[in-house]
Amino acid sequence: MEKIIYDVLNKLEENSYESYIVGGYVRDNLLGIQSLDIDICTNAKPKEVLELFNCDSVKLYDYGNVSFEDGDYTFEITTFRKDIKYKGNRKPEKIVYIDSFEEDLKRRDFTINAICMDKDGNIIDLHDGRKDLKRKIIRTIGNPDEKLKEDALRILRAIRFATLFKFKLDPELKNAIIDNKDLLKILSYERKKEELNKIFCSKNKKYGVKLLSTLGLLEPLELKDINNVFYTNDLIGIWAMITDSDYAFTKREKELINKIKDLQKEDINNPLIQYKYGGYVLSVVSDLKRLNTKKIISKYEKLPIKDKNEINISAEEICEVLNKKPDSFLKDILEDIEVQILTGKVKNEKEVIKKYIKDNY
Ligand code: ATP
Ligand code: MG
Repeated sequence: MEKIIYDVLNKLEENSYESYIVGGYVRDNLLGIQSLDIDICTNAKPKEVLELFNCDSVKLYDYGNVSFEDGDYTFEITTFRKDIKYKGNRKPEKIVYIDSFEEDLKRRDFTINAICMDKDGNIIDLHDGRKDLKRKIIRTIGNPDEKLKEDALRILRAIRFATLFKFKLDPELKNAIIDNKDLLKILSYERKKEELNKIFCSKNKKYGVKLLSTLGLLEPLELKDINNVFYTNDLIGIWAMITDSDYAFTKREKELINKIKDLQKEDINNPLIQYKYGGYVLSVVSDLKRLNTKKIISKYEKLPIKDKNEINISAEEICEVLNKKPDSFLKDILEDIEVQILTGKVKNEKEVIKKYIKDNY
């Protein structure tokens, strides 16, 4: 175990608190994957954890989780707890801090996420997580139907872990997912998007999409044309194609999604269109349409200008040539020159442009 991690556990233990690494780090470690996110569980209360790890990056979250950074690592320290009654199939209504490590493990989602490691590297595996890692199975701790009803996000977490590691879903979990799939409709788009992004970024995304589709989750997730995830690695490009719902997109994301949709209806080889949409949108749409993206981008790169301010004449110079005061006519002339340059009729050179203006205005 890396010294930074040992030191965190050791500090808790020196202060007579019990503490273990749990979750992603232990799981990934056993799978031979490096992980920089360290989840630690302890019987120290949030206030006590805060006092012990007082630093600039320390944060206390709603449910009493304390997080901070050290070097490349992000630590999240969670007090042993029991979740009481779940609200809206997502959040516990109340959490109770407890002393029992065993009880804390029971509230967790999957066996592979409940393997613990102490500061000396000993594994504590009360739910046979290692067996499921070996057999490549995602299995809930306890009754899968109850686990999913408590928190429907676990449906997508199950598919995310299955996808990332190419694991199978335990048959009972699979049935529970099918039975509870409509609960996905009441989850927030932010959380769903986070999980789906991880599935779409995985090298095993084909398997992930097959799971989503065979379990009947596309409809409750409002996803369509899902095969488009295979044609681009660009997340915005994927979202533009696979849903009409607003998955909590930012203003910028919405703009790009609309551009990607609009460009599909245009002639992608037209220089004016290429100029209007720019390299990023061109390459995403070209990939989605399975066109020769390299060729299209190389054509775009050769455009005489990529932006208005690359036109080799200023508003003052145009006024000088025409001997006029600046006015609304400038906008029309500049737009005309832009088109003439892009279509190769006028060279982007000051004297050539001046001559064009003299001859035509
Ligand atoms: P990664 O960090 O790689 O995304 P992780 O398993 O560490 O995966 P976290 O979200 O960091 O996931 O959560 C840490 C641990 O907390 C999990 O391993 C699991 O034991 C528990 N956990 C997280 N989310 C849930 C949930 N929705 N329901 C039950 N337990 C959960
Ligand atoms: Mg984690």
